[in-house]
Amino acid sequence: MPNGIFYMKGRSIMNKKRLAILIIGVVLFLILVIGLVLHFVPNSDDKKVGAFVNDTEKPTLNGVQDLTFDGKTDLDFYSHLQMSDNSNEKLDITVTGDYDLTVNGEYNLLYVLKDASGNTEEQEFVLTVDIEKGNPTKKVSYKTVTPKGYTLEVIDGIAYIEGHIIVNKSYSIPKDYNPGKMVYLEKSQMVLPEVVDPFKQLVSDSSQLGLNIYNATCYRSYGFQNTLYTNYIKRDGKEAAETYSARPGYSEHHTGLAIDVNSVSNAFAGTPESVWLNDNCHRYGFIIRYPKGKEDITGYQYEPWHLRYVGEELAAKLYNNGDWITMEEYFGFTSDYNK
Ligand SMILES: [Zn+2]
Repeated sequence: MPNGIFYMKGRSIMNKKRLAILIIGVVLFLILVIGLVLHFVPNSDDKKVGAFVNDTEKPTLNGVQDLTFDGKTDLDFYSHLQMSDNSNEKLDITVTGDYDLTVNGEYNLLYVLKDASGNTEEQEFVLTVDIEKGNPTKKVSYKTVTPKGYTLEVIDGIAYIEGHIIVNKSYSIPKDYNPGKMVYLEKSQMVLPEVVDPFKQLVSDSSQLGLNIYNATCYRSYGFQNTLYTNYIKRDGKEAAETYSARPGYSEHHTGLAIDVNSVSNAFAGTPESVWLNDNCHRYGFIIRYPKGKEDITGYQYEPWHLRYVGEELAAKLYNNGDWITMEEYFGFTSDYNK
């Protein structure tokens, strides 16, 4: 019996040990399982938290290059780009900046690549729009000599004297006239390249004197001029509107050589900026195109804000010590919708 008891006791002890080992085993197993669960769950949480809070790494954008649009093949902004991100988030790419695929010119644009955390990578590129004028309809071409002895040559419906394009109420430019490779004067504002440096110099020199001269509007397409003209007629009636707004096809702004500055209103007349421009713009190749007292000649009211770029040589001849001579008077042509 003692043996039996001993045996029993021994067996009982052995059972307790086994039980303890089993319990420890189960506990260790549970710890392992919980550990594994805890290991993976917070990990995926980390990723989520990281995605919305801690991911400050920009996505990468490679392959950016300047693009050309010739009007013959489709414009593809994206297929040549390589985009990637550290956290495999969804990427969103856009092109920002203004461009017009119907107007030749160089447009400064920006790719903006964004990941889901809002980190952005930006890269600039230039879009050159260079469309050949397609299928030009037959336009008038002729030569004539003005009463002042200058040759006025109309080529495909566009009038020139000594290389200066002439646009007024007698000489329109075709609806589809494209000034060619235009560049930005300021954001969204385009002019022909030769106008940029002289205008910037004019602005810079005048600012040294405490004057604030700025571009308000320069190139306008036929379509934009049409909208303006139509709105002005609605507002002021045709007769009044035509003293300050050109019919579409008759606006010098279509040439890429005209700049309206500052307020573009009668309030500009007599300001120090206006007085300085009247006396100095010729030194930069600009003229006051619609001078005071010449309304019957130009067909427009006095517009001290409207500058036309003609180059320094002609501007010096028209300046006339501040009593401006018009292009019409100097070269000898009219400005009249009926002629
Ligand atoms: Zn103007």
